[in-house]
Amino acid sequence: MERYKDIIPDWDAFWRAIHAPLPTVIRTNTLRITPEELRERLEGKGFSLAPLPWEESCFQVTGDTPIGNTLEHWLGYYYVQEASQLLPVLALSPRPGERILDLCAAPGGKASQIAQYMGDEGLLVANEPSPKRLRALLANLYRLGVRCAVVTECPGERFPGEGEYDRVLVDAPCSGEGTARRHPHLRKGAPLGLIRRLAALQKRLLARALKLVRPGGIVVYSTCTLAPEENEGVVRYVLDRGLGELVPWTPPLPHARGLSRFAGEEYGKELAKTVRIYPHHFDSEGGFVAVLRRPA
Ligand code: SAM
Repeated sequence: MERYKDIIPDWDAFWRAIHAPLPTVIRTNTLRITPEELRERLEGKGFSLAPLPWEESCFQVTGDTPIGNTLEHWLGYYYVQEASQLLPVLALSPRPGERILDLCAAPGGKASQIAQYMGDEGLLVANEPSPKRLRALLANLYRLGVRCAVVTECPGERFPGEGEYDRVLVDAPCSGEGTARRHPHLRKGAPLGLIRRLAALQKRLLARALKLVRPGGIVVYSTCTLAPEENEGVVRYVLDRGLGELVPWTPPLPHARGLSRFAGEEYGKELAKTVRIYPHHFDSEGGFVAVLRRPA
C-alpha cells in the first residue's frame, strides 16, 4: 500500500483503520420485512442495532453470536453487506419497471439490493460466469425472495445483446485491496502483475457494458480495490474510445474524488467525477465508484 502514500488523504488514519476490526452491517430486505420489525426481532434476540445515518434500512450490528446464524437470516429478512458495498447500487439508482443487468453478480449482495430498490418490479438479469459462485447467487436470490430476476452464466465481456438495458452494474472482479481489514495479506497491496491482468479484463467488461446499455442509459463501474490501474485507468480507457461519458456522483458520506494522475499515467481532470472510498472515512472497507452514461 506504500505506493498510495501520496494519494490517500490522512495516511496515518488510513493505516490505523486497515488494522482495526470491521463493523458488521446488515441491509433490511424490505421485500420481506420493515426495518422497524427487523430491529425489534433482532434486539429481542440480544443484538444491538444502530441505523446507518445515510441509509436507515441498514444497521450496524453488535452481538455475542454471529449475525448469519439467526432464523431471520434464513428467512431472508436481511443481507449482511459491508457499508461501502451499499454505494454502487445507490449510484445506479434502479427504479421499478426498469430492465437492469448486473454483469458480475455473485454472491448477489448488490443484485438483491437492486431488486429491492426496483420493488421487485421489472427485469433484473443477474449474470455470473463462475459455476461455484453461481450457486451462492441463486441461493441468496431465493432466500431473499427476489422474483424479478433471471440468472445467466456467461463471461461478462462476451455477454450478448445491444442497447437492451436501462442500467448496467459492473461490480468488477478486482485485486480487492480495499478489503485489507478482512484480508490482512492485502495490507501490503496486491501484486502489480495481478493488477495489470485484472485491469485488462475490467476494460473489456466496462466496454461491453456500455454497449449493452441503451443510448442515454447508465452504467456504474465499481471495485473494492484502491489500485488506480483498475479504477481511473479503466474509466479512462472507455472515455478515450467515446463509449461513455462521466456523470458526477456524490455519495451521502465522506469520500475522496478520483485521481487525475498516478505513477506517470494521466487520467484527466474529469476523473474527479468519480469517487474513492477509504476505510478511515466512515469505518468501512475501501473502493471506487464511477457513474457513466452511454452517449445518446
Ligand atoms: N456484485 C457482487 C455482490 O455484490 O455480491 C460481487 C461481485 S465480485 C466483486 C466479482 C464477480 O465477478 C465474482 O463473482 C467473479 O466470479 C465474477 N467474474 C469473474 N470474471 C468475470 C467475467 N469475465 N465476467 C463477469 N463476471 C466475472
